[in-house]
Amino acid sequence: MTDAPTDLSRRALMGVAGAVALAGPASAAPKSKAGDDYVLRNVRLETGYDRDADGVSATRTGLFNVRITGGKIATIGPAGPSARGLHAYDAKGLLMLPAFRDMHIHLDKTFYGDPWRAPRLKHGIPGQIAIEQKLLPGMLAGVEAHADRLISLCQSKGTTFARSQCNVDPVVGLGNLERLKRALDRRKATFGYEIVAFPQHGLVSAHIEGLMREAMSAGATHVGGIDPTAVDGGMERSVDTILQIALDAHAPIDMHLHEPGPSGIAAIRRIAARVDQEPSLKGRVTFSHCFCLEALSETEASDMAQLMAHAGMSVASTVPMGPQVMPIPALMEAGVPVYVGTDTVVDFWGVFGQCDSLLRTWTACQIYGWKDELAISQALKLATGGPMPLSPTGEQLWPKAGDAADVVLVRAACSAETVARMPHRETVLYRGRLAAGAWPGAKAA
Ligand SMILES: [Zn+2]
Repeated sequence: MTDAPTDLSRRALMGVAGAVALAGPASAAPKSKAGDDYVLRNVRLETGYDRDADGVSATRTGLFNVRITGGKIATIGPAGPSARGLHAYDAKGLLMLPAFRDMHIHLDKTFYGDPWRAPRLKHGIPGQIAIEQKLLPGMLAGVEAHADRLISLCQSKGTTFARSQCNVDPVVGLGNLERLKRALDRRKATFGYEIVAFPQHGLVSAHIEGLMREAMSAGATHVGGIDPTAVDGGMERSVDTILQIALDAHAPIDMHLHEPGPSGIAAIRRIAARVDQEPSLKGRVTFSHCFCLEALSETEASDMAQLMAHAGMSVASTVPMGPQVMPIPALMEAGVPVYVGTDTVVDFWGVFGQCDSLLRTWTACQIYGWKDELAISQALKLATGGPMPLSPTGEQLWPKAGDAADVVLVRAACSAETVARMPHRETVLYRGRLAAGAWPGAKAA
């Protein structure tokens, strides 16, 4: 993000004209091609929090014109007619929020769109791996079409960026990766992505270190890993192999860490120790799921959160609703970036994924008791993966000139209502292009 050229709140209150040219009727003939240069008129932006003696009582908003040029937010000014000749869409007061991110999804393995079938579950993760080893070869031909459907589903929920896990294993080799990358590249005008080379069947134990290195040259952006002790046959060797591949490929790490208890904690500690020795790894390690944190006491969780924050580690979570809960508040409080993700959508692992980061955020609010205006509002950070309209103290953070025009428009009064009510995503833009929904008030253009 770049620094704000002006203070939106002050401009909203004072009615001072911003940088958007305001002369001319709204019905002026469009000259610019949508996606390149246009104005979203009358969008609702959050401008601060109202407070009373008991804290935040409401979210303050105002109407603005937002000009989008070359895929970025160009200028933000008071609502009104837009410049003559500039393509304009009248949002009629729809709330504009940063688009959402899905930071853990398996776009390469799904039955989404196929006839219904529930998963056959047996013998935990090893049993599921045995099932998928039989199914994967027959799914190869459909990887691209299925991924394409999931991308559309994500976009319909306001998500314009995904970090997709992608199997790299002895059964499909790089087959899923090649196909997933093609599918994502075809949609890259309206959907951003990262791909984790995911050794679902083991890395060291499956003898695929060479294949993983090939994956990093074939389009994977992150080195994946899987339960070093429970699946990969030995914590130290597994962790060290992942780290070495990442260092050699100059790539970040995103490790599936389902295993509970001390072995999971030990893996985090070993990686944290290596980060201390190799500063280039700092801020480059994500743990997906990280269930080993669930059993910790409050003090232990806080200590681990501090350790992880120091190493710049992040956590991607599905916000699980089990007998134990992830200490997400402790992680966030310590400064550990926490992302949400769908994980599986409809496949042989599970069938409940909705590709809706807002739903994950809604769930978090209920699990963690985030019930008032400020808490619900700030929870939006989970859905966006970082960008926020307002800081906890009510300072305007987004949008600013220079920000990528990745936005979602919803019929809601503020972030808190959006999280609580999960409204339809009316308009979804990626880099200023329509990714899902419809252009707002298109007749005004
Ligand atoms: Zn996963």
